[in-house]
Amino acid sequence: MRWFPLTLLGLALTQPAHAEDIVDVLRRSQQVRLEAMPPAAEGPKAQAIRRSFEQLRRALPQEVSAELHVVSAGTLAETLHGRIVVVHESLADMPEGARLFVLAHELGHVAGHHWQQMGAVYRHWIPGEVKPETTDPVAGALGREASATSHRQEYEADAYALQVLRRLGRSPQDAFAAFMQQGMLQDTATHPGTRKRVASLRATLAGAAGSGHDAE
Ligand SMILES: [Zn+2]
Repeated sequence: MRWFPLTLLGLALTQPAHAEDIVDVLRRSQQVRLEAMPPAAEGPKAQAIRRSFEQLRRALPQEVSAELHVVSAGTLAETLHGRIVVVHESLADMPEGARLFVLAHELGHVAGHHWQQMGAVYRHWIPGEVKPETTDPVAGALGREASATSHRQEYEADAYALQVLRRLGRSPQDAFAAFMQQGMLQDTATHPGTRKRVASLRATLAGAAGSGHDAE
Protein backbone atom coordinates (compact mmCIF):
# COMPACT_ATOMS: atom_id res chain seq x y z
CA MET A 1 0.00 0.00 0.00
CA ARG A 2 1.27 3.49 -0.67
CA TRP A 3 0.98 6.39 1.66
CA PHE A 4 2.25 9.91 1.26
CA PRO A 5 1.71 11.48 4.65
CA LEU A 6 3.02 14.97 3.91
CA THR A 7 1.61 15.12 0.41
CA LEU A 8 -1.76 14.18 1.83
CA LEU A 9 -1.62 16.92 4.37
CA GLY A 10 -0.57 19.35 1.65
CA LEU A 11 -3.53 18.25 -0.43
CA ALA A 12 -5.85 18.81 2.51
CA LEU A 13 -4.73 22.39 2.80
CA THR A 14 -5.33 23.22 -0.83
CA GLN A 15 -8.91 21.99 -0.92
CA PRO A 16 -12.18 23.87 -0.42
CA ALA A 17 -13.14 25.12 2.97
CA HIS A 18 -15.91 22.67 3.87
CA ALA A 19 -15.13 20.58 6.92
CA GLU A 20 -13.43 17.25 6.23
CA ASP A 21 -11.91 14.84 8.66
CA ILE A 22 -8.57 13.24 7.90
CA VAL A 23 -10.09 9.95 6.73
CA ASP A 24 -12.18 11.89 4.18
CA VAL A 25 -8.95 13.46 2.96
CA LEU A 26 -7.22 10.07 2.70
CA ARG A 27 -10.21 8.66 0.84
CA ARG A 28 -10.26 11.57 -1.58
CA SER A 29 -6.53 11.22 -2.22
CA GLN A 30 -6.95 7.50 -2.97
CA GLN A 31 -9.84 8.25 -5.32
CA VAL A 32 -7.68 10.76 -7.23
CA ARG A 33 -4.99 8.07 -7.63
CA LEU A 34 -7.54 5.48 -8.73
CA GLU A 35 -9.04 7.77 -11.36
CA ALA A 36 -5.59 8.65 -12.70
CA MET A 37 -4.95 5.03 -13.73
CA PRO A 38 -6.68 4.05 -17.00
CA PRO A 39 -7.93 0.46 -17.33
CA ALA A 40 -5.71 -1.81 -19.43
CA ALA A 41 -7.05 -3.20 -22.71
CA GLU A 42 -8.69 -6.61 -22.30
CA GLY A 43 -6.19 -9.04 -23.73
CA PRO A 44 -3.83 -11.86 -22.81
CA LYS A 45 -2.02 -9.79 -20.17
CA ALA A 46 -5.12 -8.70 -18.27
CA GLN A 47 -6.48 -12.25 -18.55
CA ALA A 48 -3.28 -13.78 -17.15
CA ILE A 49 -3.43 -11.44 -14.15
CA ARG A 50 -7.12 -12.20 -13.56
CA ARG A 51 -6.43 -15.93 -13.69
CA SER A 52 -3.66 -15.60 -11.08
CA PHE A 53 -5.91 -13.47 -8.90
CA GLU A 54 -8.73 -16.03 -8.99
CA GLN A 55 -6.31 -18.86 -8.31
CA LEU A 56 -5.10 -17.00 -5.21
CA ARG A 57 -8.58 -16.21 -3.97
CA ARG A 58 -9.39 -19.88 -3.84
CA ALA A 59 -6.27 -20.50 -1.73
CA LEU A 60 -6.78 -17.75 0.87
CA PRO A 61 -7.07 -18.84 4.50
CA GLN A 62 -10.20 -16.66 4.80
CA GLU A 63 -12.45 -15.06 2.25
CA VAL A 64 -11.39 -11.53 1.41
CA SER A 65 -13.59 -8.86 -0.11
CA ALA A 66 -11.34 -7.46 -2.83
CA GLU A 67 -11.75 -6.20 -6.37
CA LEU A 68 -9.08 -6.32 -9.09
CA HIS A 69 -8.39 -3.44 -11.49
CA VAL A 70 -5.81 -4.06 -14.22
CA VAL A 71 -4.45 -0.71 -15.39
CA SER A 72 -1.97 0.64 -17.92
CA ALA A 73 -0.33 3.36 -15.80
CA GLY A 74 0.99 3.80 -12.29
CA THR A 75 2.92 1.50 -9.99
CA LEU A 76 3.22 -2.27 -10.35
CA ALA A 77 0.62 -3.01 -7.67
CA GLU A 78 -1.11 -1.20 -4.85
CA THR A 79 -4.31 -1.42 -2.85
CA LEU A 80 -6.66 1.55 -2.72
CA HIS A 81 -9.63 2.15 -0.42
CA GLY A 82 -8.55 -0.94 1.49
CA ARG A 83 -10.09 -3.32 -1.05
CA ILE A 84 -9.32 -2.33 -4.65
CA VAL A 85 -6.19 -4.11 -5.82
CA VAL A 86 -4.78 -2.05 -8.69
CA VAL A 87 -2.24 -3.89 -10.83
CA HIS A 88 -0.22 -2.71 -13.81
CA GLU A 89 -0.63 -4.96 -16.85
CA SER A 90 3.16 -5.43 -16.97
CA LEU A 91 2.76 -7.78 -13.99
CA ALA A 92 1.72 -10.34 -16.62
CA ASP A 93 5.30 -10.31 -17.94
CA MET A 94 6.68 -11.59 -14.62
CA PRO A 95 7.17 -15.31 -14.03
CA GLU A 96 3.97 -16.83 -12.63
CA GLY A 97 5.34 -17.40 -9.12
CA ALA A 98 6.52 -13.80 -8.78
CA ARG A 99 3.19 -12.56 -10.10
CA LEU A 100 1.31 -14.68 -7.56
CA PHE A 101 3.47 -13.30 -4.75
CA VAL A 102 2.85 -9.67 -5.74
CA LEU A 103 -0.92 -10.24 -5.93
CA ALA A 104 -0.98 -12.21 -2.68
CA HIS A 105 0.93 -9.38 -0.99
CA GLU A 106 -1.79 -6.91 -2.01
CA LEU A 107 -4.48 -9.31 -0.77
CA GLY A 108 -2.51 -9.39 2.49
CA HIS A 109 -3.13 -5.65 2.86
CA VAL A 110 -6.86 -6.24 2.39
CA ALA A 111 -7.01 -9.25 4.72
CA GLY A 112 -4.98 -7.39 7.38
CA HIS A 113 -7.36 -4.38 7.35
CA HIS A 114 -4.35 -2.14 6.78
CA TRP A 115 -6.38 0.74 5.41
CA GLN A 116 -8.53 0.87 8.54
CA GLN A 117 -5.42 0.67 10.76
CA MET A 118 -3.78 3.52 8.90
CA GLY A 119 -6.96 5.60 9.11
CA ALA A 120 -6.92 5.09 12.88
CA VAL A 121 -3.31 6.36 13.06
CA TYR A 122 -4.25 9.52 11.17
CA ARG A 123 -7.39 10.03 13.22
CA HIS A 124 -5.44 9.67 16.45
CA TRP A 125 -3.23 12.62 15.51
CA ILE A 126 -5.91 14.63 13.72
CA PRO A 127 -9.16 13.82 15.51
CA GLY A 128 -11.36 16.60 14.11
CA GLU A 129 -11.61 18.84 11.13
CA VAL A 130 -8.54 19.05 8.90
CA LYS A 131 -7.05 22.56 8.96
CA PRO A 132 -3.50 23.94 9.13
CA GLU A 133 -3.72 24.79 12.85
CA THR A 134 -4.43 21.14 13.70
CA THR A 135 -2.25 19.41 11.10
CA ASP A 136 0.97 21.47 11.11
CA PRO A 137 1.97 20.85 14.74
CA VAL A 138 1.49 17.07 14.48
CA ALA A 139 2.75 16.52 10.91
CA GLY A 140 6.18 15.30 12.04
CA ALA A 141 4.93 12.87 14.68
CA LEU A 142 2.10 11.63 12.45
CA GLY A 143 4.53 11.15 9.56
CA ARG A 144 6.82 9.03 11.75
CA GLU A 145 4.00 6.86 13.10
CA ALA A 146 2.40 6.46 9.65
CA SER A 147 5.75 5.46 8.19
CA ALA A 148 6.44 2.91 10.96
CA THR A 149 2.91 1.51 10.57
CA SER A 150 3.31 1.28 6.82
CA HIS A 151 6.64 -0.57 7.13
CA ARG A 152 5.08 -3.04 9.57
CA GLN A 153 2.17 -3.57 7.17
CA GLU A 154 4.58 -4.32 4.32
CA TYR A 155 6.27 -7.06 6.36
CA GLU A 156 2.86 -8.45 7.35
CA ALA A 157 1.65 -8.50 3.74
CA ASP A 158 4.86 -10.26 2.67
CA ALA A 159 4.40 -12.90 5.39
CA TYR A 160 0.76 -13.36 4.36
CA ALA A 161 1.77 -13.79 0.72
CA LEU A 162 4.34 -16.39 1.70
CA GLN A 163 1.65 -18.31 3.60
CA VAL A 164 -0.76 -18.21 0.63
CA LEU A 165 1.93 -19.36 -1.78
CA ARG A 166 2.64 -22.27 0.51
CA ARG A 167 -1.08 -23.15 0.48
CA LEU A 168 -0.84 -23.22 -3.32
CA GLY A 169 2.08 -25.63 -3.03
CA ARG A 170 4.56 -23.12 -4.42
CA SER A 171 8.15 -22.61 -3.35
CA PRO A 172 9.24 -19.65 -1.20
CA GLN A 173 11.66 -18.97 -4.05
CA ASP A 174 8.71 -17.35 -5.83
CA ALA A 175 8.75 -14.63 -3.18
CA PHE A 176 12.44 -13.94 -3.65
CA ALA A 177 11.98 -13.98 -7.41
CA ALA A 178 9.34 -11.25 -7.06
CA PHE A 179 11.87 -9.03 -5.29
CA MET A 180 14.62 -9.76 -7.76
CA GLN A 181 12.28 -8.83 -10.62
CA GLN A 182 11.83 -5.37 -9.11
CA GLY A 183 15.53 -4.73 -8.48
CA MET A 184 17.15 -3.55 -5.24
CA LEU A 185 15.01 -0.76 -3.80
CA GLN A 186 16.00 1.51 -0.92
CA ASP A 187 13.83 2.36 2.10
CA THR A 188 11.11 4.92 1.49
CA ALA A 189 8.65 6.59 3.88
CA THR A 190 6.16 3.86 3.06
CA HIS A 191 8.21 0.77 2.17
CA PRO A 192 11.20 -0.97 3.74
CA GLY A 193 13.99 -1.53 1.21
CA THR A 194 14.43 -4.84 -0.60
CA ARG A 195 17.24 -5.99 1.70
CA LYS A 196 15.07 -5.63 4.82
CA ARG A 197 12.06 -7.28 3.21
CA VAL A 198 14.10 -10.26 2.07
CA ALA A 199 15.66 -10.55 5.55
CA SER A 200 12.19 -10.44 7.11
CA LEU A 201 10.95 -13.18 4.76
CA ARG A 202 13.94 -15.34 5.63
CA ALA A 203 13.17 -14.85 9.34
CA THR A 204 9.52 -15.82 8.70
CA LEU A 205 10.67 -18.96 6.89
CA ALA A 206 13.12 -19.84 9.66
CA GLY A 207 10.34 -19.32 12.24
CA ALA A 208 7.98 -21.56 10.30
CA ALA A 209 10.69 -24.24 10.04
CA GLY A 210 11.38 -23.95 13.79
CA SER A 211 7.71 -24.42 14.66
CA GLY A 212 7.55 -27.63 12.64
CA HIS A 213 5.74 -26.32 9.56
CA ASP A 214 6.99 -27.18 6.16
CA ALA A 215 9.17 -24.25 5.13
CA GLU A 216 10.19 -25.55 1.72
ZN1 LIG B 1 2.51 -3.46 0.17
